Amino acid sequence: MRILVAEDEITYRHMLRTLLTKWGYEIVMAGDGLEAWEALRSEDRPRLAILDWMMPGMDGVDICRAIRQGKSDPYIYLLLLTSRDQKQDVVQGFEAGADDYLIKPFDPHELRARVHAGERIVELQDRLIRAQEALREQATHDPLTGLLNRRACLDSLLAELSRGGRTGSPVCIGMVDIDHFKRVNDAHGHLIGDEVLCEVARRMQDSLRRYDVIGRLGGEEFLLVLPGCSIEEGVKLAERICHVVCSEPVKVKNWSFAVSISLGVAVANQPAPGDMEALLGSADAALYRAKEAGRNRVEFSTQLRRPSSEAE
Ligand code: GH3
Ligand code: MG
Ligand code: MG
Ligand code: MG
Repeated sequence: MRILVAEDEITYRHMLRTLLTKWGYEIVMAGDGLEAWEALRSEDRPRLAILDWMMPGMDGVDICRAIRQGKSDPYIYLLLLTSRDQKQDVVQGFEAGADDYLIKPFDPHELRARVHAGERIVELQDRLIRAQEALREQATHDPLTGLLNRRACLDSLLAELSRGGRTGSPVCIGMVDIDHFKRVNDAHGHLIGDEVLCEVARRMQDSLRRYDVIGRLGGEEFLLVLPGCSIEEGVKLAERICHVVCSEPVKVKNWSFAVSISLGVAVANQPAPGDMEALLGSADAALYRAKEAGRNRVEFSTQLRRPSSEAE
């Protein structure tokens, strides 16, 4: 773990460096308050800082206050060093945002114990952040394919419709359904079916542009959100994806499956968040036509049936 040591007195600097290095910490040294402040604002800032109270430039308490006022995420654990005659001011240090303090001259064992306590807090916070990230991932992603789940991809469609409304650029969507997928399950079971489903998802995702969105609506149905695409561009992209998916069989274990998808494409040329349902309805109707027309193909719709019945 890296620790910032901000101390202007040479003997303490030497002592802190020797002890902390011996205990296995990596040290970032600052000889005054401004240097310390710079180090704590840098991209790779240490997560634990030992700050002398009295230093030129900025004192330790100023630094504590400045760190806590800014949005320091992740948390930086701050340990203040004070001399004995400042002990009555310790409350001020805590109020400024210090987590702990140590009185100079200090006992090395006590320093070690306090640094350990700080390290534990930093590790706990890291674990909390990881747990939050995992929860966010779970809430927005489909566990089988790793794609966005239904809610998250509909949310991003809504966001793209708002953005398109502001910028005046169209939003295309593609509704995707795997052809005759039931046959895979019926013949080989659900687990093999799951693997085929994942491979189809991967092929589609790999064919998209960086800013396109793909999500799993449910079952073997997916939604593509293609911002800035005209209907022509959307259909072209959909045809490419259709081709990529069926271009070679999916291999699972010793089996080989010919797979294909059908797509229904629709566009909102002057997007608005209120268009979402009509847009999904149009894409769904086009998908139905693609199935009717024999599958493994793209159909599209240029008609948006808004509730007010005006057509685009
Ligand atoms: P169509 O070309 O008309 O779309 O035919 P289909 O067989 O794909 O359509 P249908 O809606 O009849 O069947 C969809 C199948 O997808 C039924 C269901 O068992 C399967 N399915 C849905 N979700 C999953 C899943 O998560 N894993 C697996 N293995 N199968 C799934
Ligand atoms: Mg000092
Ligand atoms: Mg289906
Ligand atoms: Mg299907």
